[in-house]
Amino acid sequence: MSRILAACIVALVAFAPACQKKATIAPPTVVEDYSYARLDEVAVTHMDLDLIVDFGLQTISGIAAFDLDNKSDANVVHFDTWALHIQDVTIDGKEARWQLGDSVALLGRPLSVAITPESRRVTVRYATTNDARGVQWLMPPQTLGKHHPYVYTQSQSYHARSWVPCQDTPANRFTYSARVHVPAELLAVMSASNPQERSVEGVYQFEMKQPIPSYLLALAVGDIAYRRIGPRTGVYSEPGLVKAAAAEFSDMENMMDAAEAMMGPYLWERFDVLVLPPSFPFGGMENPRLTFATPVLVAGDRSLVSVIVHELAHSWSGNLVTNATWNDFWLNEGFTTYLERRLDEVLYGREYMEMQTLLGLRDVDLDFEEYGVDHKDSALLLDLGDRDFEEVSTTAAYEKGCLFLRMLEESFGRETFDPFLRGYFDAHAFQTMTTERFVAYMKEHLFANDEAKYAELLVDDWIYKPGMPANTPKPKSTRFKQVDAQIAAFARGTPARFLQTEGWTTNEWQRFLDNLPQPLTHERLADLESAFRFEKMNAVVQRSWFPNVIASKYEPAYPALEDFLLSIGRRYLIRPVYMKLAETPEGLEFARRVYAQARPGYHAITQQGIDPVLKWSEVAAQTPDERQ
Ligand SMILES: [Zn+2]
Repeated sequence: MSRILAACIVALVAFAPACQKKATIAPPTVVEDYSYARLDEVAVTHMDLDLIVDFGLQTISGIAAFDLDNKSDANVVHFDTWALHIQDVTIDGKEARWQLGDSVALLGRPLSVAITPESRRVTVRYATTNDARGVQWLMPPQTLGKHHPYVYTQSQSYHARSWVPCQDTPANRFTYSARVHVPAELLAVMSASNPQERSVEGVYQFEMKQPIPSYLLALAVGDIAYRRIGPRTGVYSEPGLVKAAAAEFSDMENMMDAAEAMMGPYLWERFDVLVLPPSFPFGGMENPRLTFATPVLVAGDRSLVSVIVHELAHSWSGNLVTNATWNDFWLNEGFTTYLERRLDEVLYGREYMEMQTLLGLRDVDLDFEEYGVDHKDSALLLDLGDRDFEEVSTTAAYEKGCLFLRMLEESFGRETFDPFLRGYFDAHAFQTMTTERFVAYMKEHLFANDEAKYAELLVDDWIYKPGMPANTPKPKSTRFKQVDAQIAAFARGTPARFLQTEGWTTNEWQRFLDNLPQPLTHERLADLESAFRFEKMNAVVQRSWFPNVIASKYEPAYPALEDFLLSIGRRYLIRPVYMKLAETPEGLEFARRVYAQARPGYHAITQQGIDPVLKWSEVAAQTPDERQ
């Protein structure tokens, strides 16, 4: 399904600055899936970048050259741009006619370049601006080492256009090369072949030979060191963290073996992980060859490595077979969550997998509480319309998508379902996929066109309707049963030190803290904190601890709560805590005060998730005096 925003395009004909030749170039009249590109007419097949990263100006500038496949003898090619300064455009070395349309909300400005059927290569000279929403510049104090600045990009979903002009849609794939110039004391890495040592001149060469969609373009520059884990794996991070990160992720070769046994050969050659500074808004981002990850995962006990398993699984679902539009997002995330859980089972056991699944289901329940069971975003196939994808809850794409595949697995048996999955990846490698085409493929290759069985398994309810269908699998965890017994004991008055918590991992602590009765008295919270020291545990445990603190207004823990919100930028970890605070007027006041300080350090994507929770636009509209 594609989105058509023709109505928004009426005003696009405004002509750009005087340096352009007088042009009569047809502007784009159709927007599909947040992009001006017309792939049916012209598609980019390869891109060469030559970029300078300037920390003084906070710009990325240089040239992007595109090889074109002009499928329909088209006389114009449209690129997406967001807050880019376009300096000039040439075609096959000669000055080109081009124009930049007006900016449209979410989409940015179309760059339209006049071409002929013979045009082969379009070269754009450009620079980023302060409004590049896919680029985060960090000052030295925001890094671990505190001595060097840092910059990283986050292109998903439609932010690549804010640092590279491109056909910014998952529906197209292209190969790329890049030369990147950075200050000599820093290292640059990309979603491509990467250096393992610093270059003396600060010039780095990259190549991505496998075609990728634009949302997988990625760049990071900073005081970055490399450490090998295995023949195909290693970690990059600031030097102060690289040893701990390598120890935390030492399982990566095993993960790859398990993944290949299930999904077939890994086709991206290397699988390295870049551990970013704390402002990174996600747990991980599956940039091919180089997953970007939050430093929160380096917990010291390998308890959070399933995020790395998740990003690895994306090497098949997402990076190899890609959702054709953002409405089909579940084809990326539901499949990946399912594969992650299957790999969890191989690597860490069935019990671990079941605990992860139950914790995922809790996130679905929280979503239902926030948005209602009937909200259309809990259908697998999304209907984004003209909404900002960043503001749409995608929990169902992950967790309901995972359970849908598990339901199929349990109905057909692994002996049938696993070869089906493997065949699906083999048949569609380096292609894009729509929900409609997946359903047709599944009907033929899994259901053998058995319409009765298809109806019996409620497949259409899963995909097209909100809520959880009647045949939702029921995960079972004996360890969580034991945790539930301890919750009951605590609720009956058993002191914390007498609870049986030996051997509990992050999963059990999450279950325990998420299900305690609220509000607890201050004495009971003090008893828990002195027995278990949650504030010393990892950030995922703290995400579950602080809502209890907030429900009881337990002030001794507020300094730690404030620290947590100021030091972590991962949206998944801090959003539920802000939501809990926003439930009461005093909590909201506290949250807004902390947020005012924390917000400039958060990534734009995290800000977008939290602004509505705290009704930040009301605060931003106040004068500084009113805010006092
Ligand atoms: Zn994912």
